[in-house]
Amino acid sequence: MDQISTFAASPYAVRDLQLFRDADDPAVARALAPCAVVRVAAGQRVEDGLRARLYIVLSGSLEVAPDAHSGDDSGVTRVMPGESVGEQAVLDDAVNLAAMTALEDCELLVIEPELVWQLIDRSNVLARNLLRLLSFRVRAANAQLRRRQKLGEFYRQLSLNDGLTGLYNRAWLGEMLPKLAMRARQDGSPLSIVMIDLDHFKRFNDTHGHIAGDAALSAAAGVIRDSLRPSDFAVRYGGEELMAVLPDTPLSLAEMVAGRLAERLRTALVFPDMRLPLPHITGSFGVASLAAGGDEHALMAAADAALYRAKQAGRDRVSV
Ligand code: GH3
Ligand code: MG
Ligand code: MG
Repeated sequence: MDQISTFAASPYAVRDLQLFRDADDPAVARALAPCAVVRVAAGQRVEDGLRARLYIVLSGSLEVAPDAHSGDDSGVTRVMPGESVGEQAVLDDAVNLAAMTALEDCELLVIEPELVWQLIDRSNVLARNLLRLLSFRVRAANAQLRRRQKLGEFYRQLSLNDGLTGLYNRAWLGEMLPKLAMRARQDGSPLSIVMIDLDHFKRFNDTHGHIAGDAALSAAAGVIRDSLRPSDFAVRYGGEELMAVLPDTPLSLAEMVAGRLAERLRTALVFPDMRLPLPHITGSFGVASLAAGGDEHALMAAADAALYRAKQAGRDRVSV
């Protein structure tokens, strides 16, 4: 980065600089006249020796990567002729750690911070332009932050939901069941779960194919999701193993819920495509409630044992 000229000796004029738009008076031109114009070759870094300076691109373009140390990850921006970079570092007297690289051969006007302050004192128009620019940058940064938050939430949802059925997945269960159990213990409220394992599902797959099996799984998931209260949760925690998590629900009520689920499942239609429906599927249901002093592991084990009894007793039924 070599000084090639001063602003006064360069072909550029104050009106070329966005920050000085409408501040094109002789005093401003005089103040800027001795400022250095430097050349940066394509691909080179703008080395500013850690001193905050205001740079205005006169020709070419710069890529500005955000300051990695400040936690700012607002993305790379491109600075075009007439645009400035570094005004924030100058104003808050911070070291400018943003990495600036010339995307093509550039000419930059360099303005030292003392001069920026002098010009702000002298020119209301410059002060107003700076405020407008900073306000725009804050707004853009906020919008970026909101987009990122939304995206983060989206990926979080994605990681906690099962792709085939849309139900919560095993990761969700591992995260949420301990919390629900803890809350139930604290509030002294009942917490019940219903474990569901589809009956002879291997045979269903073998007879009708895996695609039809997936359709049956989706149908079963739909039955469970649509049969629960808004405060309940439907989970797919294994291949053909589903669960209803029922906060504030005692065992007797959970048993009734399971009976209703079994009934709806055995009458639900399964369409692999839009042609003839496949045979109905059934499930075995194991119901358990959180015992006093018990934890989520004991709860799962109790429901699993009940499910095993339902299978042993002939399937398509509910056990507690
Ligand atoms: P049981 O009544 O004793 O539960 O018999 P089952 O055949 O359902 O039990 P098993 O655990 O032996 O087999 C479960 C089968 O579920 C194995 C697998 O073919 C099928 N399965 C598991 N996940 C999926 C899936 O995502 N899609 C499909 N189509 N089938 C699955
Ligand atoms: Mg199974
Ligand atoms: Mg099964």
